[in-house]
Amino acid sequence: MPPTPDPKAEALAARIADVLRHRVGKDERSAKRHDWFTAAVLALRDDVIDRWMESTQRTHAAGAKRVYYLSLEFLIGRLLRDAISNMGMLREMEQALRLHGIDLGDLAELEPDAALGNGGLGRLAACFMESLASLDIPAYGYGIRYVNGMFRQRIDDGWQVELPETWLAHGNPWEFDRRESCYRIGYGGEVIANGDAVEWRPSELVEASAFDTPVVGWRGRRVNTLRLWTAHALDPIRLDAFNAGDHFGALADQLRADSLVRVLYPADSSPAGQELRLRQEYFFTAASLQDIVRRHIQYHGDVRSLAQKVAIQLNDTHPAVAVAELMRLLVDDHGLEFDEAFALTQGTIAYTNHTLLPEALESWPLPLFERLLPRHMQIIYAINSRILRDARRQGMSDADAAAISLIDEHGERRVRMANLAFAGAHSVNGVAALHTDLMKSTVFSALHRLYPARINNKTNGVTPRRWLQQCNPALTGIIRDAIGDAFLDDAEALSALNALAGDAALGERVAEVKRANKVALAAHLKELTGIRLNPDALFDVQIKRIHEYKRQLLNLVETVALYDQIRSHPERDWVPRVKIFGGKAASSYHNAKLIIKLAGDIARRINSDPSVGGLLKVVFVPNYNVSLAERIIPAADLSEQISTAGMEASGTGNMKFALNGALTIGTLDGANVEIKDRVGDEHIVIFGLTADEVAQRRAEGYNPRAIIEGSRELQQAVEAIASGVFSPDDPGRYRGLMDGLYAHDWFMVAADFDSYAAAQRAVDARWHDPAGWRRSAIHNIANVGWFSSDRTIGEYARDIWQVTPT
Ligand SMILES: *Cc1c(COP(=O)(O)O)cnc(C)c1O
Repeated sequence: MPPTPDPKAEALAARIADVLRHRVGKDERSAKRHDWFTAAVLALRDDVIDRWMESTQRTHAAGAKRVYYLSLEFLIGRLLRDAISNMGMLREMEQALRLHGIDLGDLAELEPDAALGNGGLGRLAACFMESLASLDIPAYGYGIRYVNGMFRQRIDDGWQVELPETWLAHGNPWEFDRRESCYRIGYGGEVIANGDAVEWRPSELVEASAFDTPVVGWRGRRVNTLRLWTAHALDPIRLDAFNAGDHFGALADQLRADSLVRVLYPADSSPAGQELRLRQEYFFTAASLQDIVRRHIQYHGDVRSLAQKVAIQLNDTHPAVAVAELMRLLVDDHGLEFDEAFALTQGTIAYTNHTLLPEALESWPLPLFERLLPRHMQIIYAINSRILRDARRQGMSDADAAAISLIDEHGERRVRMANLAFAGAHSVNGVAALHTDLMKSTVFSALHRLYPARINNKTNGVTPRRWLQQCNPALTGIIRDAIGDAFLDDAEALSALNALAGDAALGERVAEVKRANKVALAAHLKELTGIRLNPDALFDVQIKRIHEYKRQLLNLVETVALYDQIRSHPERDWVPRVKIFGGKAASSYHNAKLIIKLAGDIARRINSDPSVGGLLKVVFVPNYNVSLAERIIPAADLSEQISTAGMEASGTGNMKFALNGALTIGTLDGANVEIKDRVGDEHIVIFGLTADEVAQRRAEGYNPRAIIEGSRELQQAVEAIASGVFSPDDPGRYRGLMDGLYAHDWFMVAADFDSYAAAQRAVDARWHDPAGWRRSAIHNIANVGWFSSDRTIGEYARDIWQVTPT
């Protein structure tokens, strides 16, 4: 007998039925599953809206400072579970739906992922939005409402194929169309000097209008707004042209506007050079700034108090043109003097750096920038002359001045967006301690000496609501039984688990939950890929964007070496392993796509070889996204965080795995360093060169050929791949990839191979001691509460934004 539903659930069930009838327009008999999904969201949304309005009124009454998070990416995933659970309505909703014969879990699966981001940077923005609301900080996220977000990945014959994602195909019940919030965005044209005043007369105009999505904080404490811009032509159709028979030309302006918000560039840490990308960046930045300044003046009257009431955070350099745009608004539209405007701009804006890779630092050809944004180019020159003057006064060298300049003068002249963001901000932060140190000594070395107080560190975090409570309810239940509920409000209270790490009964329960999660994942992967997995094997997982610096190739080469070893020494006590890979490659990134193909080729060969029996299986999971991450991470035993040291800014996948009780095998890179410090050396497996050692090797002339030829295991694996053992249909397929390892091996696969292989055998040894493994898993869960994005956002609020979380 199901428990009798409480009256609140019955009332909610009645409301859902009413919504289904009056807003979806279906009766209960004809309603499709999708109609029920929409009805459930709309019914829940009514409660969310009440909190939303209450939150806005509270901010207004308090005259509070608002935080604006500008990001070209928000990798949100699904929202239903998030909203239900943060509203505290989980049980109520489950019961209400059951009264209609519907399972909440099934319904939640119908929601498409809002995949408006590439990877870590976009997911960080989504975690931050949730934490801002949870900490009761008045905040807006600003971005683009891409009609097709991140591409959907299909694997055809092992190769990645990119398909458009149509997440809006069934409508989006979360969003509100705010056609009344619209702004004109200009491009091109000329700048007219008019006495003291300057006027920019763009040659093209497009209209930005807003869609708002409510973001519910934990316990419904506050509901903030994610405002995503869409584009319209000023004239949706040119009737004269249409009537004259030019039916397509009449729609050209609307098509051009549509193309601005059509796709997210599928480039991860490498700038898309396209003019359209610069247009997108300016489009959303300019719309957001007009909106911010309008709201400020509406509530506070005077633009001169902007820095006291507004904090703008730039998520990477994609919105860095904000520095010039805010200057333009203040000087040209509001009549401020240049210096006063610059102080106000710096007081308002802060910038987060996400990459040190030189090829990923955004810069635009100067002629392109000047053609699209002529007034901004003038402002950038004016800012440049001020910072170069500062450098001269400090007695800095010509080389330093060249590094500081907003214009790169080497070869084709380019505008450097990172330098612009640095110059126009009062705070420049890195995303992990090591990354921040490297910012000071590498990319921003000269700027840091000129403005030494500006760089600070804010180590990334993830929201424990999505990445523990929602994705792993069974583990959450065990933890509540063990240490009470305090960790639900303060993830650092998980540390109470440390005292229980040796408790055999708790270890047993944690292991049972892990196994159940693995059984569920195995069933899902069987359906997706047809491959059958043994849930008692060690699940060894590397899921993230495919990139050479993340070194999926190191993992694959080691997999081949292990395969050889198992065949040569079948008598040894091998640990059964399942190697799980997942991730998308940028569509133009040849080697990354080849690595996906290699994973598939290795999987096919190994999985069908009876001589390794059940000891080794390899799976490449297609279309890695947030929802897949939520299934895979709770089922992982081992988390692969093996980037070349010095190249991963932080990583956040590493945090999610540890929070769910996986052990990390990793290099001393990004936030791995801080994870190691917190979980303790004995509960993490560290290998490989340090960032300093990598830099040193590169400087002194690194010889990967000698290393490969000196390591039998490595050479055998590389030669097997190179000679076509895994690609008999095309034996030369991986020759070039392997030649790259011999020739330069920029990512130090060869240098780290022996150390990595030894670390993997140390993992095997730990697995042979189940009690020790469980203890380590519990210490991981207990000590990574610090990596909650609530802690990160608390630090931004205190150190950068000067707002007080309540
Ligand atoms: C967390 C997350 C990432 C970032 O993973 P890293 O391992 O830090 O690169 C990327 N994509 C998705 C879907 C995520 O959830």
